[in-house]
Amino acid sequence: MRIIDFIEKDVENANETKRASVIMRSFSLVMCIYFLIQGICLAVCGQWAGMGVSLLCLVGYVVAFGYTYRNRTKTAMRYTFLSTIIWVLLFVVLFGWDCGAQHFLFALLILFIAVSHESTRRKILAAAFLCMVRLILYQYTGHFEPLIFLNRIAISIMQLINTVSIFTALSVIVILFCQDSLSMEKKLVAYNERLRETSMRDPLTKLYNRRAMVEYMNELVAGGAWFNIAIGDIDFFKKVNDTYGHEAGDAVLVHIAGLLASYMEQKGRVCRWGGEEFLLVFEDMNGEKAKQELEKIRNLVSQQKIGYKGQTISVTMTFGLDEYSSHHPIDVTINSADQKLYMGKSQGRNRVIF
Ligand code: GH3
Ligand code: MG
Ligand code: MG
Repeated sequence: MRIIDFIEKDVENANETKRASVIMRSFSLVMCIYFLIQGICLAVCGQWAGMGVSLLCLVGYVVAFGYTYRNRTKTAMRYTFLSTIIWVLLFVVLFGWDCGAQHFLFALLILFIAVSHESTRRKILAAAFLCMVRLILYQYTGHFEPLIFLNRIAISIMQLINTVSIFTALSVIVILFCQDSLSMEKKLVAYNERLRETSMRDPLTKLYNRRAMVEYMNELVAGGAWFNIAIGDIDFFKKVNDTYGHEAGDAVLVHIAGLLASYMEQKGRVCRWGGEEFLLVFEDMNGEKAKQELEKIRNLVSQQKIGYKGQTISVTMTFGLDEYSSHHPIDVTINSADQKLYMGKSQGRNRVIF
């Protein structure tokens, strides 16, 4: 398994986020590398006591790393918080202020605030506590000499390793934190878009539904657009269901919907208005032109040979059409188109009434 997969392994608790564990693992890993390099450098400088302490801390962070796989993130975070404070205290007391270990309190602060699932009150308390620890350490080192004297070279090496490690740890925490937020944001935006799209579509025909069409027509009205509304209804559809079955009826609906959608692509919009009724909006054309278009659609529908389980089904449609006028609310145009549709039904069906 690649190291990156190992770090990115999901948490065992389903109700915890992966992000906290991944950031804590990365932080622990940076600290392990830090103590390993520091231990080696101190050994090379002949600072055996320092090397011993470094290796002890290394073991501490290996445990912290393992903790994120076995325990809840909260426990792992608390362990990391406490163990980091302990080693910083130990280092400053042993090697003095110049060793620079106290700067790791900043990395710990960012880690705790950005990653932990503690309450805001606890985070503020933790920040105050870390601030106090640093001030106490400063006062302490002003009054007491380090327990272990490191020579100038060892101190310089420690400063160098500390600075690089703190910058690395902070960068890792912030980069992972931002990356996760950004990808989460992208996911949410895409998910919202999918939800919006689903809420606007009819599940069977995938056409826009009535609600989406009403919204769309209101937008057209608000934009002062010129358009025509037609309502089309499949003739004797009940008979299709009775003769071929409800599933065959569904197949016919899907077929007709596809035909209407592709025909209307450049001309306006179509929705499933109800059971076997469709509402069509023709944009930027007068009623006469819309009527011609509807006649073409009516003709196309009547020529369809819809195959279903070896049978061929043919249907016709009747349409009622009316031109939208800004003098009336949109409902007036819809009702008028509906009345014309029923006029067409009573006149024998398979026709367009304008
Ligand atoms: P008309 O020419 O007067 O419109 O006659 P019709 O039989 O089409 O009209 P009616 O309103 O009596 O019947 C419409 C039928 O459409 C009744 C209903 O079961 C059927 N229907 C509505 N929605 C669906 C659907 O989603 N799938 C199927 N298979 N049938 C549907
Ligand atoms: Mg019908
Ligand atoms: Mg009907």
